[in-house]
Amino acid sequence: MKIGFIGLGNMGGPMARNLAKAGHQVTGFDVTGEVPEGITAATSGAEAATGADAVITMLPNGAILRAVADEVIPAMAPGAVLLDCSTVDVESARAVADQAAAAGLRALDAPVSGGIGGAEAGTLTFMVGGSEDALSDTRDLFDIMGQKAVHCGPSGNGQAAKICNNMILGATMIASCEAFALADKLGLDRQAMFDVVSTSSGYSWTMNAYCPAPGVGPQSPADNGYQPGFAAELMLKDLRLSQQAAEAVDADTPMGARATELYGQFVESEDGEGRDFSAMLPRFEKRGRG
Ligand code: NAD
Repeated sequence: MKIGFIGLGNMGGPMARNLAKAGHQVTGFDVTGEVPEGITAATSGAEAATGADAVITMLPNGAILRAVADEVIPAMAPGAVLLDCSTVDVESARAVADQAAAAGLRALDAPVSGGIGGAEAGTLTFMVGGSEDALSDTRDLFDIMGQKAVHCGPSGNGQAAKICNNMILGATMIASCEAFALADKLGLDRQAMFDVVSTSSGYSWTMNAYCPAPGVGPQSPADNGYQPGFAAELMLKDLRLSQQAAEAVDADTPMGARATELYGQFVESEDGEGRDFSAMLPRFEKRGRG
């Protein structure tokens, strides 16, 4: 397939590389001007999109996605697929899909989970919103970039799935960290705490697979000085998107709201930026109730 790839950063770079390695003809554009090996460099998004069967975007946020869509949609051939893999607000995803449809194109929102490691290894999970036929025509690309693509319904539903999942993730990480900090103060050994919780009703992915306590449970960023992994500021971004969506549809999400506040504080005034999101544990460790 002829693919235009726009946004070749930490995630987009390796995803584009994997597509090129698999034999697709990939033309890429990033505002930094940097293009990975094996990708033909374009001088603009529109140039990368011209004549492509699919245009993939992997961009920082919804405002940038909308600006890029304004530029590339008029350059795309009718019937081509605009496939956005960025994590953006549901509203932007739906607006871009409508704009694409009005121009005779098909659009998919397909945010990912799996991080930079998953992008490099081609093992991402995609949560896909949009039509079945656009998904089946691009299935081959998903199979190269990832291990799984779940169809979540119409446009915007991929983003909805992503932010609901990550709202649970943020709140659960905080719950696991505050429980470890309480256990410390109660004189309960962390290994004993892990052994009980990981096999009891308090178990979760954050406890069992990504334990925030160093030296306990499987290897995780806690064992590596809390280097990300999944950085606290990216967690904050997704939590804010969840609250923006909750506001838009009048959903009551008190745990998500509190998790957003705590990660906001951690990232913006407690040196949490650049640390893994599980570094909430050393944050709680140092604090009392006041
Ligand atoms: P990044 O900042 O490394 O990459 C974004 C790229 O977009 C940058 O290279 C930037 O120069 C480029 N860009 C910005 N504006 C542009 C424009 N107008 N035209 C062309 N290129 C432009 O970010 P990333 O870590 O690759 O994340 C990309 C998306 O994936 C984000 O939405 C993020 O939330 C999501 N995501 C990231 C991770 C992760 O672990 N990094 C995991 C899941 C989802």
